[in-house]
Amino acid sequence: MNDSPKHCGICKRVLDIPADPLSIDCGGDCWGCVGEIEADMGWPEPLVQVRKESEAGLHPDWIDPAKR
Ligand SMILES: [Zn+2]
Repeated sequence: MNDSPKHCGICKRVLDIPADPLSIDCGGDCWGCVGEIEADMGWPEPLVQVRKESEAGLHPDWIDPAKR
């Protein structure tokens, strides 16, 4: 294990912070970025998850593709 913190390759968020549900490491990028991208591409599971998180205020810049 490398103990220096990993950062999202897209937004530079520190990954794997237990208090931050968007910091899950998705292959070098955070779920916050990857989830939004996958939801934008219309992937059903990420869309459901990101919608839920968006309702909780976790994706302030994300707009539901159904509402665009
Ligand atoms: Zn990110």
